[in-house]
Amino acid sequence: MMTQDVDFLPIVDILHDILGDSRYHNDHRGQITFDCPVCSHDIKGLDEGDGKGNLEVNYKMFVYKCWVCAETHETHGHLNKLVRKYGSPRQIKQFNLFAPEDLTSIGKREYKKLRLPNEFMEFTGVSMGRKLTHHYKQAYRYLQSRNVTDEMIQKYRIGYCDSGKYENRIIIPSYDEEDELNYFVARSFLTYSKRKYMNPEADKDNLIWNEHLMDWDQTVYLVEGAFDSIFLNNSIPMLGKFITDKLFEKIYDNSKKVVIVLDGDAWNDSEKLYHKLNVGRLMGKVYLIRLPLDKDIADLRGDLSEYELIKLD
Ligand SMILES: [Zn+2]
Repeated sequence: MMTQDVDFLPIVDILHDILGDSRYHNDHRGQITFDCPVCSHDIKGLDEGDGKGNLEVNYKMFVYKCWVCAETHETHGHLNKLVRKYGSPRQIKQFNLFAPEDLTSIGKREYKKLRLPNEFMEFTGVSMGRKLTHHYKQAYRYLQSRNVTDEMIQKYRIGYCDSGKYENRIIIPSYDEEDELNYFVARSFLTYSKRKYMNPEADKDNLIWNEHLMDWDQTVYLVEGAFDSIFLNNSIPMLGKFITDKLFEKIYDNSKKVVIVLDGDAWNDSEKLYHKLNVGRLMGKVYLIRLPLDKDIADLRGDLSEYELIKLD
């Protein structure tokens, strides 16, 4: 990668601005360490870092990694991700201004075009004379037990696999704006399964779940999982508790009103997400719904009418 003619000083300044004092800096190699914003701030709840400098950034290679929490909290990857997550809108803008383009594009991994598993079956095929197999019945019963209706199965093109790598799994696909498959989740429908979910290799950082179904003029609901999103019109699952840069950007640029509805046990994550989104043009347009500890959206069959929209200070 060509790095000779690039002036990295502004980048280093911005990193200090976002992450505070650095602990170690080797400007020849482009290595610099900071207290980790995840494990020394978020987790320990410290205003100041823990002084350990576990977060290592290589600004010449545009990557970062925390030596303590990389594995457990995905604190690693492309520098863009770190800056987007912890920078203010102004810092992010500055960063984009100074980040050389040939570097911002490294780390963007090439993924093979995603396809549904070969063994994927739709539930709808059955009415057209296919035999009701054991797998079909089991899969269908599982969906019913989770309150998924026939309309939902159709709308979200939900299917299942009766053999192959995704055997005994419900498949919920996601399609992008152009109706191209961009992801799927594969949830076991067996009562006992070592791995509840087995999902494909795909560019999870850059997908917007079922964007072809989104109406950006309407209220957008942010939820945790693909199953949650089935029950709530115009919702997007984050596929976890953290929002990707891509999704943040999409929502920031397009939404008129955002309601965050994470699982009942994720109130802290909800609050963090609220403060992250409630900035700039979205200020005052972000709301939270607090579900009971033991409930998720599926339990409520997507009926949130009893819950008030909360704003935080
Ligand atoms: Zn860390």
